[in-house]
Amino acid sequence: AKKQGRNNYQYYLPPEKTEAQMERFAMEAMLRKALEKDELLVYYQPRIHTKSEKVVCVEALVRWRHPSLGIIPPGDFIPLAEEIGLIAQLGEQVLRKACKQIKKWQDEGMKGLSVSVNLSPLQFKEQHLPGIISRILRQSGMRPEFLELEITESAAMQNVGRNILMLRELKEMGVKISIDDFGTGYSSLSYLKKFPIDSLKVDRSFISGIHQDPDDAAIVNAIIVLAKTLKLRVTAEGVETEQQYLYLQQHHCDEAQGYLFGKPMPPETFEEWYMLNTTEKDLMLSHDF
Ligand code: C2E
Ligand code: MG
Ligand code: MG
Ligand code: MG
Repeated sequence: AKKQGRNNYQYYLPPEKTEAQMERFAMEAMLRKALEKDELLVYYQPRIHTKSEKVVCVEALVRWRHPSLGIIPPGDFIPLAEEIGLIAQLGEQVLRKACKQIKKWQDEGMKGLSVSVNLSPLQFKEQHLPGIISRILRQSGMRPEFLELEITESAAMQNVGRNILMLRELKEMGVKISIDDFGTGYSSLSYLKKFPIDSLKVDRSFISGIHQDPDDAAIVNAIIVLAKTLKLRVTAEGVETEQQYLYLQQHHCDEAQGYLFGKPMPPETFEEWYMLNTTEKDLMLSHDF
């Protein structure tokens, strides 16, 4: 009977895992290791104040430097990290690295430089997020007003009541908040008014169409006007041409970010970029906007 039982057991073995499942499984194990082995890098992309044309902020964008696969972009592992419960730990590492780096740069003369860090909607759901952030700030020595947290429009609009409380708590700490990819999710404008936010980032998809599609130009203008009305700063994402930049300057968009100025860069490359793009006189001034 024992033998038979064993045979029966074999009969119920699950079907072989598909290739996709195997790959995912391998990725999952690799990502866990990456966090332990400190394989995550933070790249920095400059954000330009359109009036003064100075760098005011950098956006921190995570990369995974895999020993054999090379540099992996966030789109290829953030969703997995969210799915398998690693995003909080990953996000904390990014925040810690970014705050430490910016404090170092400020001390070295990049006075007034601030940093924006993307938050996953799942991180935003954590009750203790303000505590985590305040600890990271304390440990890095960076002042809270130099940290901006980017949350996507869709994340902000989920569970609005709780989000407002969380955002208020973060604001009280002195941290800034921006709504990322604005225009792609769907915001209720009345909620937008209630959110204690500082700025809107116009999604790249509208910027690329400014000179091709009159509807895109109209949407960009409407968002700029909306931001001004609500006394928010407005940043254009994905600025790739001089023509787009000129348009944004003429329409009083406060800040611009995109390949026209610089791609996301590892810290050493950003330092070189900064030296080439900032005059000595600028370095002496603190960028107060
Ligand atoms: P995002 O926050 O909207 O970041 C902007 C993305 O647009 C970046 O892609 C950037 O490299 C790209 N970009 C910037 N300027 C241009 C341009 O002129 N043209 C084009 N074609 N693209 C431009 P990246 O670095 O691949 O990041 C993709 C997304 O991954 C980010 O979108 C953000 O949602 C997410 N992400 C990145 N880092 C983190 C992180 O640390 N935590 C979380 N939760 N998400 C992150
Ligand atoms: Mg962003
Ligand atoms: Mg964005
Ligand atoms: Mg975007």
